Amino acid sequence: MKYYILFGPPGAGKGTQAKFIKEKFNLMHISTGDLLRKEMAEGTPLGLQAKQLINNGQLVPDEVVVGMIKTTFASNKDVNGFLLDGFPRTIAQAEKLDEMLSQTGEKVDKVLSLVISDETIFERISNRARTEGRKDDADPAVIQNRIDTYHQKTEPLIGYYTQKGNYCPIPGEQTIEEVFGCICNQIED
Ligand code: AMP
Repeated sequence: MKYYILFGPPGAGKGTQAKFIKEKFNLMHISTGDLLRKEMAEGTPLGLQAKQLINNGQLVPDEVVVGMIKTTFASNKDVNGFLLDGFPRTIAQAEKLDEMLSQTGEKVDKVLSLVISDETIFERISNRARTEGRKDDADPAVIQNRIDTYHQKTEPLIGYYTQKGNYCPIPGEQTIEEVFGCICNQIED
């Protein structure tokens, strides 16, 4: 089983690239953000718990997302591999993921990291607010919170995976096709 992480700040283009990657490489795409938005839309207890945090641009607790990943892995044993999008977002989540995979002698194959500037993040998320209608995209203060959270809690994963030797930085400000080309080169390498 292959395990790829699509890494990067909010607005880096992870969702856009995920659609192309899962098609071409026949992977199951797991977006923790999409799973949480589904729980919110359905008004489940988990969705209600997550709503305030998401709408403020904060992370939901590690146990919640780790639980969702575990459940998804357990109920999809026959797939070719997984493309994780928006997970892990903290060192604790990355450690849990490694622990889960090590139980079956598996590991993260590559961390495909879309690198973009804070200015581009702001611009892209503000544009997305006009098309996708996400509440956490609409308020500049929430966007800033998400960027700050990324720098504080998620960016340390770059060091974590660099040390493991599977971190692959990809310039994220090229065209969608160019970014996808770089991702394909990394996966096929
Ligand atoms: P995303 O769609 O990946 O931008 O995620 C939207 C929001 O969902 C984030 O701002 C967080 O509040 C929450 N979220 C998604 N994935 C995670 C995660 N791995 N850990 C904690 N919170 C998450």
